[in-house]
Amino acid sequence: MGPMRAAEAFLKELQETSLLRRVSRVQIDLYGSLALTGLGHQTDIALLMGLQGETPDQIDTNTVASKLASIRESKRLALNGDHPIPFSEATDLVMHRRAVKGMHPNTMRFTAFTDDDPNTPALDATFLSIGGGFIHREGQTGTAHQKCSSKVPYPFTSANEVLQLCEQHQISINELALRNELTFRSREEIRTGLQRIWTVMQECVEKGCQTEGILPGGLEVERRAPALYQSLTQRSAPMDRDALCVLDWVDLYALAVNEENAAGGRVVTAPTNGAAGIIPAVLHYLQRFCPDVTDETIERFLLTAAVIGSLYKRNASISGAEVGCQGEVGVACSMAAGALTDALGGTPHQVEEAAEIGMEHNLGLTCDPIKGLVQVPCIERNAMGAVKAINASRLALRGDGKHFVSLDRVIRVMKRTGADMSARYKETSRGGLAVNISEC
Ligand code: SF4
Repeated sequence: MGPMRAAEAFLKELQETSLLRRVSRVQIDLYGSLALTGLGHQTDIALLMGLQGETPDQIDTNTVASKLASIRESKRLALNGDHPIPFSEATDLVMHRRAVKGMHPNTMRFTAFTDDDPNTPALDATFLSIGGGFIHREGQTGTAHQKCSSKVPYPFTSANEVLQLCEQHQISINELALRNELTFRSREEIRTGLQRIWTVMQECVEKGCQTEGILPGGLEVERRAPALYQSLTQRSAPMDRDALCVLDWVDLYALAVNEENAAGGRVVTAPTNGAAGIIPAVLHYLQRFCPDVTDETIERFLLTAAVIGSLYKRNASISGAEVGCQGEVGVACSMAAGALTDALGGTPHQVEEAAEIGMEHNLGLTCDPIKGLVQVPCIERNAMGAVKAINASRLALRGDGKHFVSLDRVIRVMKRTGADMSARYKETSRGGLAVNISEC
């Protein structure tokens, strides 16, 4: 998602500088993880679609294959949808697989040329993909978070500040998030936005449960969700006496989303696409297996998840390339654990505890996707993360919110652990499972 957003931002710059119509060639250079796992992560496809003016929330995922085939056959793409230029992936999309010292691990540079001077860049822009679809334009100061937090009534930079604000104003974490969000949009707009997110998550689970076949990319991984769905819906009576059968459903929801993600389907980035199955799986669990759940409960869940996710984004990272999978599956698990606790009526301290447990037991989790594809271990790892989130919430709800390690501390530890982690385990597919597959 980050690369597509970067392409969108680059097109905007071309428009603002009145260059768009004069561009005769565009070159994209990818560095670090983007180059090493870009093909497996479908970064190339995202970039080509982005240059054609597609955006992650609007793109019709059913048309991607034909649009891609057309670009590859004709060796031309329509810049911003209506300005055709020649484009050859072999020469215009360059993957720099050697690490460059001091460079962010997810760096992409866009360069545009015009016929006026085909050898001198008319515009070049470097973007960093910082996780969860967020990008940072090199040379720009101030993050979106910093700009927003100066306007809201309850600004916070840490979990401790969130707890203090909740205590001081006698509000829940979801209420705090809602009041902050009201600075930017109406109650109705917030509701509509949250319900839209939930609808996309449900559609994704449904599609994942119905779509059979082999996932693309060459690993020959078979989609498991449809068969699991069939077996759960046709389950015989004795199996229903299995007290843990709820876990099978949680696994199903996560597998369905992550198989869709691996196939290039539409998912909600939460907080990243690789970890997109955990929050929908826990939300489906909430809706299906917990009492008295309404649309409002779902909204409360999402608001609290956003607060927790923002703490990681601000104080550590949600990028596998920066801190390993603890920043993706670990953060999603923490967000889901805290959000579930809030949705089930937990106190702010219990929410904070659940979120902390969700991360504490993901510390050190490496990112080592086989062949750079977001399939193994990613798909199953989301199922494990969802189950862990539910257990973290249950542990917290059984206590009184008092606990040993604070959420702020675990976020700091996660960041430091990520910094200590070898680059082999940070979305480069050069270590761990990615290089230790035994053939049988
Ligand atoms: S191992 Fe984790 S961080 Fe790496 S691609 Fe898979 S889900 Fe993302």
